Amino acid sequence: MDDRIMSASSSRYGRHTVFYALGLGIAALALAPALAVAATDTAPPSFETCRTDLIAWAAAHDVPQAVAQAQLGALEPDPDVLAATRNQGEFVWPIWDYIEASVTPARIEAGQRKLAELATPLAAIETKYGVDRYTLVAFWGVESTYGTVLDNLSVVKPVVRSLATLSCGDPTRAAYWRDELTAALQILARDEAPLDKMPGGLTGSWAGAMGHTQFMPTVYQQHAVDFDGDGKRDIWTSATDALASTANYLRAHGWRSGEGWGHEVVLPETFDAALADETTPRSLAAWRDLGVKPAHDRAIADESAQATLILPAGIRGPAFLLRPNFAVILRYNTALAYALTVALLSDRLRGDPGLSRDWPRGDRALTGDERRDLQSRLTERGYATGDVDGKIGPKTRAALRAYQGSQGLPADGYADPALLERIRAAP
Ligand code: CA
Repeated sequence: MDDRIMSASSSRYGRHTVFYALGLGIAALALAPALAVAATDTAPPSFETCRTDLIAWAAAHDVPQAVAQAQLGALEPDPDVLAATRNQGEFVWPIWDYIEASVTPARIEAGQRKLAELATPLAAIETKYGVDRYTLVAFWGVESTYGTVLDNLSVVKPVVRSLATLSCGDPTRAAYWRDELTAALQILARDEAPLDKMPGGLTGSWAGAMGHTQFMPTVYQQHAVDFDGDGKRDIWTSATDALASTANYLRAHGWRSGEGWGHEVVLPETFDAALADETTPRSLAAWRDLGVKPAHDRAIADESAQATLILPAGIRGPAFLLRPNFAVILRYNTALAYALTVALLSDRLRGDPGLSRDWPRGDRALTGDERRDLQSRLTERGYATGDVDGKIGPKTRAALRAYQGSQGLPADGYADPALLERIRAAP
């Protein structure tokens, strides 16, 4: 897996959220890492057989037989859900398109209204969990456009049907989906979701993420909290509960109170792009000594604080110093584009200005075939990218930097069509 945190098995949420996120709509679908389709010589069991097995499994795992039977007994698979898994990863937008689909003037303005409306509970959540309100509201805005999509029955889907479809139709991750389905059934059995207020029943994204901040069922079980004091952990109709649950999740994954995610920086005219390797932390003082300056005036309280440098669109685009909290945002979703979207929306909600440097907008994104071609050509030349899976993650970017360095190019690890043409033309 060529993805920043995908190997962290403790993150049950991890890679799934981005394409589950309702707020990003089709952008979110396109951003998702592709699920590899396993080659298999034997025909998979029929949906009916699989469904029967799921009922037995659930009944053996804290779901009353009657609930499992009622929920699954007559269920048919949802072909749209399987189509969505197959379509992931092939169509990719440039990173700035993802960011700008979410960090819009309308979403900034709506978020600032929510900050005002919910000022009292947000202050209490900040105090209890140590996560700032701007970050929490940014997650909310990205995940569900502040909850506005949750009642849109043309967008959300029945969670049990989606997860049963995936359990039986996605053999590469069947156990993951089965466990999420079991958790969803347990939530129903325990009467935790206020179904009387949910016209579509227990609904979520096509992959089963639920509520204002889009928790998978197992994440709900581990991290959801009742913060408004009605005795229910209600992430579906209580924004306060959902925001506190997200704060609880972030704190559990190491959020550092009082620190931001990082900030945009300006690089000196001549700069070794290889220093932006996204893995080597240096102190803010060390970065300053390398000529890396904050893009906007900001007070740096602690120059010994560590940060890594990233160039998400190469040396021609904006540069960012990332503090440890950025890695916590990535625990919600492992896609760099996702995490940067949340981070930049949180800044705008706080009242900070937009980016000082524009993106290299003339570039188009590589297609899935092109990304795999690039990876296999790099690998052939001795620059290992991990899997040839079409995902441009840290390993592929490291391989790109090594290749670029060998060619005397700026080693920014950015995969663009010009670089692909160059490597295709080389002997
Ligand atoms: Ca509650």
